[in-house]
Amino acid sequence: MDHFLYRDGLLHAEDVPLDDIAATVGTPAYVYSHATLLRHFTLFDEALAGMPHLVCYSVKASSNLALLSILAEAGAGMDVVSEGEYRRARAAGVPGERIVFSGVGKTRPEMRTALEGGIRQFNLESEPEMRALSEVAVSLGVEAPVTIRVNPDVDARTHAKISTGKSENKFGIPIARAREVYAEAAKLPGLRVVGIDVHIGSQLTELEPFETAYRKVAELTAALRADGHAIDRLDLGGGLGIPYERSNSAPPLPVEYGEVVKRTVGQLGCEIQIEPGRLIAGNAGILLSRVVYVKQGEGRDFLILDAAMNDLIRPAMYDAWHDIVPVAEPAAGAETRPYDVVGPICESGDTFAKGRPMSPLREGDLVAFRSAGAYGAVMSSEYNSRLLAPEVLVRRDHFAVIRPRPSFDDMLARDRVPEWI
Ligand SMILES: *Cc1c(COP(=O)(O)O)cnc(C)c1O
Repeated sequence: MDHFLYRDGLLHAEDVPLDDIAATVGTPAYVYSHATLLRHFTLFDEALAGMPHLVCYSVKASSNLALLSILAEAGAGMDVVSEGEYRRARAAGVPGERIVFSGVGKTRPEMRTALEGGIRQFNLESEPEMRALSEVAVSLGVEAPVTIRVNPDVDARTHAKISTGKSENKFGIPIARAREVYAEAAKLPGLRVVGIDVHIGSQLTELEPFETAYRKVAELTAALRADGHAIDRLDLGGGLGIPYERSNSAPPLPVEYGEVVKRTVGQLGCEIQIEPGRLIAGNAGILLSRVVYVKQGEGRDFLILDAAMNDLIRPAMYDAWHDIVPVAEPAAGAETRPYDVVGPICESGDTFAKGRPMSPLREGDLVAFRSAGAYGAVMSSEYNSRLLAPEVLVRRDHFAVIRPRPSFDDMLARDRVPEWI
């Protein structure tokens, strides 16, 4: 459920018609709904009610400071994977004790920043990383709270590029070696083991892989406790998927996911931590774009938009589906025709959809890519020297630009031409 609905013949973000935003801000532009973002955070928070828990929003899904501030205000923790994300979380008002540091390649300077600024835990992914953190913590005279990310070798049954819990993936340490690695962690100075971490992938549309992974985590908890480790916290990762194609998919709800958590690890007396990103931000954002041309091709029409793969790379990178809807509501029962929906970039991969049935569109019409709030703006680039799309936040009947579109001067001014050329 989201707050992008037709009203009086126009698609709205909450109470704001999207053509108003297009007229003020231009296109392409990302538009987020305050209410939808908050609602999806709350769904997770409620799904874990009854267990001590913290929902740590995965900052990489969508990291604008305004969005982070909404979640911070609501009491969210944050899961960060770089110093930049750590700094964003702090700037949004999240205290260090609610920030979890994940990622396979945390550098020593990143570790130092987090230890000095305050951190809830580091989710460690390898032995070399564990030794590095031990050194950094000792050099600062502090203790770093850690979990070790275990790789449970579970098939998340999602796209290969966002599957992270199989033994061939680069993430975590094999669960079979966990006891050995925890034993080393316990011996290293400057580290304090606080729990276990697991994250098996993104855009999961079934609960069973979570259930399998979490059962393995429950077994491991017992084994590690028997070895004398204090396992008080289980970080179960993120990954719950969203319905990108509304007409034919309905992934499990957060409340159903919460049931799996309760069933598998709820009896262990651990604090539960989760790291959802996509489900919190995904349906809270759309990408607003305008039709530049309608081009007649061989046996198909191309809808050429002013948004491109540099703005939204998911279709090119993951073969992802986004519902693309006209901002002007089509008449009920209106005929549709198939379009190839493309951007202006000089690559055939700059294709958002092929043969997509849509009501007839004309030059200048506005369209919205639904479910573009996660892994959208954060993955955008200036490829083809296109300016980064601005971000806009809507709350009820008002909106604000939360990241302006840069100017061409801004873009050119970043480059330096050495005088010896
Ligand atoms: C990407 C990521 C998440 C969030 O995944 P979603 O599918 O967006 O919920 C959580 N934890 C880690 C470690 C990640 O890398």
